[in-house]
Amino acid sequence: MRKSFVAANWKMYKGPKATEEFLSAFQKVSNENMQVGITVPFVNLTTAKNFISKHGVNLLLGAQNVYFEKEGAFTGEVSIPMLEEIGVDYVVIGHSERRNIFGESDELINKKLSALSKSTLRTILCVGESLAERESGKEKEVVGAQLRKNLDGIDSCYVKELTIAYEPIWAIGTGKTASAKDAQEMCAFIRKCIEKLYDDTAAQAVRIQYGGSVKAENTKEILDMPDIDGALVGGASLNADEFEKIYNF
Ligand code: 13P
Repeated sequence: MRKSFVAANWKMYKGPKATEEFLSAFQKVSNENMQVGITVPFVNLTTAKNFISKHGVNLLLGAQNVYFEKEGAFTGEVSIPMLEEIGVDYVVIGHSERRNIFGESDELINKKLSALSKSTLRTILCVGESLAERESGKEKEVVGAQLRKNLDGIDSCYVKELTIAYEPIWAIGTGKTASAKDAQEMCAFIRKCIEKLYDDTAAQAVRIQYGGSVKAENTKEILDMPDIDGALVGGASLNADEFEKIYNF
């Protein structure tokens, strides 16, 4: 049985002080089959790790980006060994904000995933279509192509440990959530793609999150869907109480 995974994505919000405040208010995860993570800006990783270790908080720690080279003249970038040294658990790659604002290509995302697959870090790989692509009925074509390119050459052992976040761009930060039925349809499609690219074992093992305007009120309906194994939560994860209502839905 797949363990559910609800992860906060704070994006470019909160510094170290606000991170400690959030963690001080963090409430217990009540469901044993639920994993919870916070994905914080780089500058908060050490603070968060120290707090989590010291207080025994049942929480995974994630970074929002990484570069695929181990070290070198790459100003502004952070490497996998640096994140491993801090004790980070997972990295989010391929977020639509990275793809669209920072111009990250499928090829670059594939290089990152390839490097991550040889490390101790787990990955949340984000995919999703734009509004124009959905309105022209191309959502499956777009997401299928992202998966094919991003997963090119990635070993099936790593895919079984992978989390894929389906985040339709039109639902991110807009208050406009995909209906539970549409989200389920796309997550089932993603699972089918994994079956085609790998096999049924990998397809049954991979975890698929939905992301896009998830809040306490719509969590249950979405997470009750058979192919949705959790959520990647932006805005609603910034407040510890609101986030608690989501992972303890
Ligand atoms: P919102 O929950 O703010 O819509 O953001 C979703 C998201 O991009 C999570 O990665």
